[in-house]
Parts: sequence; structure tokens; C-alpha cells
Amino acid sequence: MDEFTTTKCLLCGTNSHTKVKFPQNFSEKDLTADIFSARRTTEHYHYQLLECQNCSSVFSSPILPYAKIASLYQHSKQNYDKETSFIAESYIQYIKENLGLFQGREKALEIGCGSGFFLKELEKAGFTTVYGVEPSEEAVSKSGDLKENIFTGFFENASYPENSFDLITCFQTLDHLIDPLSVLKKILQLLKPGGLAYLIMHNEKSLQARLFGEKSPIYDVEHIYLFNKKTLPLLCQKAGFTTVYGVEPSEEAVSKSGDLKDAWPPSPLKTAFLKSPGEWDLPESG
Ligand SMILES: [Zn+2]
Repeated sequence: MDEFTTTKCLLCGTNSHTKVKFPQNFSEKDLTADIFSARRTTEHYHYQLLECQNCSSVFSSPILPYAKIASLYQHSKQNYDKETSFIAESYIQYIKENLGLFQGREKALEIGCGSGFFLKELEKAGFTTVYGVEPSEEAVSKSGDLKENIFTGFFENASYPENSFDLITCFQTLDHLIDPLSVLKKILQLLKPGGLAYLIMHNEKSLQARLFGEKSPIYDVEHIYLFNKKTLPLLCQKAGFTTVYGVEPSEEAVSKSGDLKDAWPPSPLKTAFLKSPGEWDLPESG
């Protein structure tokens, strides 16, 4: 049996203000790579979920050790091919509508790029050179011409020069990571001054999550840290980002320069989905 690892609230760095939100609902022997990758089917496993009463952050603890989780991902047969076209088209819109936010469009990096569908969209949007990081060997094998620019493995182990990217994207991935704060810090290092990180993830306080409770698909064995509109900007701030743009309840872009503020870029197509800025509980600037 593997030793389970205790995780801590990313914001206050402790476990001393937590209460159990949901108890773990599986035993370790059931957690094969097949089950892990079939998370959208009937086996809906999650670890014990804790909620920090200080910070409102929600996270899985204890969790399987890093090596075991890494192995489950590498052998995962999860296939998003049918969804990727729709997702890429939807996510690229924000970038196309906000090109004014970019100081340049030379280099972009996608963390968790799969077979490179979104990287192709970035090229169409004018990025000169696109790079990707993807742990699934099977996905990378389908990336065609992009393969030479894709690092097969985890972002933590990928090495790029500092201050080199205009854009780093990370879609539905941050909540799968064992140490999202370190990953955000690394993203910040790799961005050029004024560069943008574009992050999309589940909102743990969304209406759907509140309605479905434990049955919500966001409470899943793949998700270690879950974020909301308050905790994600705070974590970005802790990592060193200075401007946070909220786009939809589950979408945010963070910028490397400027003042941390409740700032909203114009996004006409998405206006219908925008919440009023006042609904965001962003940290005070300064
Ligand atoms: Zn906390």
C-alpha cells in the first residue's frame, strides 16, 4: 500500500482551520489507471475534501503520493479528442477579442496541450512560435508537425528560458496539480514582463457545484485543489502576478505587470456571460 500524503491550504499554508467537506469515497485498491481515466463515467471517486475556514479554499487531503499520481496520468487513456475542437474554438475567442492586452505575439506555451489542437488555434491567432507541455505520450504522438515543440512530461520538469513567453495558457489543469502555487510562480518566471497567463478552471462556488454538492463532477479524484473567484486571484497574487482579469466565473487571465485591481477587458462576445465586476471578491490593491 502506498503512503497517503497530507496537503495544506495553499493560501494560509496550514491544515489547522479545515473542516471535512466530503469524506473519501473509494479504497486505494480500486484506483487503477482505467478507473482514473474513466472519471466521467459511473465510478465517481474523490479523496476526502477539506475546506479551510479561514480562506474558503477547498482541497483533497490526504492524497496518493506524487509518483503514484504521475503514473496514473501517464497511463491514462482519457481521450478528449471529441471535445477539443469545441473547447479550442471557445477558448481562443477570448484571446482574439483581447489582442490589445498583448505586447507581442512571438511565443506562446500551453501547459497540458494534448495533441496540440489549441496550439494550432494560437498560430492562427498570430503567435509566431507555439510550444506545449503534455504528459500523455499517446496524445503527443498525434501532434504531427507540432511534436518537436512539445515537451512530453510534466511542466515542473520542462525547462525554458526565463522571460521568454508572451502568453502561457493552462486550461482545466491547475486544479489537477499537487503544487499549483509553484507552477504559477514558474509561469510568472517564464513570462516576459507584461506577458499574460490565461487560466481556465472550475469554480468551486459555482451554482452547479452548490446545487449538485458531492455529486458535482468537480469533486473528483483528479482534482487536488479547487478554486473560486476569491481564492484564485489570491493565489495568483501570492505567486507574484499583479493584475487579474476575470472573464467568466471560471475563467481568468492574469498579467505580469500593472496594479492588482478589479479590471475587466472588453469582451463583446462574452458580455452575456459576464458577471458584474462587483461580484468578484478580489484582494485590495497595494
Ligand atoms: Zn487557509
